Amino acid sequence: MTANALTIPFERIADPVVRAIAERVASGTRLRRADGVALFESPDLTGIGLLADAVNRAKHGDVVTFASNQHINPTNICTLRTTCVFCGYARLPKEEGAYRYTLDQVMAEARTGNNGMTREFHIVGGLDMQAGLEYYTSMFRALKAELPHVHIKALTAVEIAHIARIEKIGWSEVLAALKEAGLDTMPGGGAETFSAAVREAIASKKLGAADYIGVHRAAHALGIRSNSTMLYGHVESFADRLEHMQMLRDLQDETGGFLAYIPLAYHPDDNELGKRLKRQGIATSGVDDLKNLAVGRLFLDNFAHVKSHWIMVSPALSQIALHYGVNDLEGTVVREKIYHAVGAQTQQAMSLPEILRLIRGAGKIPAERDSFYNVLRTFEQSEAA
Ligand code: SF4
Repeated sequence: MTANALTIPFERIADPVVRAIAERVASGTRLRRADGVALFESPDLTGIGLLADAVNRAKHGDVVTFASNQHINPTNICTLRTTCVFCGYARLPKEEGAYRYTLDQVMAEARTGNNGMTREFHIVGGLDMQAGLEYYTSMFRALKAELPHVHIKALTAVEIAHIARIEKIGWSEVLAALKEAGLDTMPGGGAETFSAAVREAIASKKLGAADYIGVHRAAHALGIRSNSTMLYGHVESFADRLEHMQMLRDLQDETGGFLAYIPLAYHPDDNELGKRLKRQGIATSGVDDLKNLAVGRLFLDNFAHVKSHWIMVSPALSQIALHYGVNDLEGTVVREKIYHAVGAQTQQAMSLPEILRLIRGAGKIPAERDSFYNVLRTFEQSEAA
């Protein structure tokens, strides 16, 4: 992480509320939850962006990172199919479209990816009763045996807790066995929004907030670093969002194990919640997408990295987000399935030249990183992709 001087352009921040929050940031005082809510309520999107950008530049300068990653979703069979009402990906075991990859299928998909450029597998799926510890340890061992240079970022806290339940063992035991088989880090999915009332409304049977945090704490204790997310744009309030971020910030204070924060925009197509809310198309507004990223950057002062997920909010908005506190873009990605199952209209993969063009178009310097956010190579303007 590059440390630059924090330079906040106070004169360009129109809203006095945002300016007062900027004073707190300038003095190194942590934002309170009420400050985060005030930022969401402020109409001064430009001022919020300038503030988040200043903080981001102090940490990272103009460098924007991405990873060459490949998504593998081994099973869409999920015991919570009927209770996670925002999900369009899961299927019951006998339902049309249900699948569970064999090890050969996983390996075949892993081999085809990205012309050998893949440096990270992002592996997540459903809570499948037939996919226990052995299913994943065999998979990780086989992947590492054939592609030892590829980092395995796999299984959300919800999946870890599911495997623990099937195997009747503790989270730490599951995590230790997976680590021994090749698991390197964990993704942040499954967090949704932590508020108990919101969870009751959108994911009533899903692992609760305290347990999500507990699994990540257990992972960090074993040296498995992880990402964190928040699903926004459904039934949650601004206060719910800040409660969620507070829990993430608290665990980060305790363990320092989170690598990045990734707010995830809710998509209403092809899922029960979208029908109930009578929404179609894109649920979140561009303004809300940018505010979620900027407030994440400002409130989560102990997180180094804030990532924009172009699959959900579009490459164009992700490009703009590079001026709203974001220093990392979801990578090249091969075969995204989960968000396309709920109506994401974005492409399912982005080539290296496309991602370089996108970052350079924002006036930033693209850099490929590894899964721990170490820069592997930067692409200066004159350099060919
Ligand atoms: S969100 Fe995850 S846990 Fe919930 S139904 Fe979908 S795949 Fe299953």
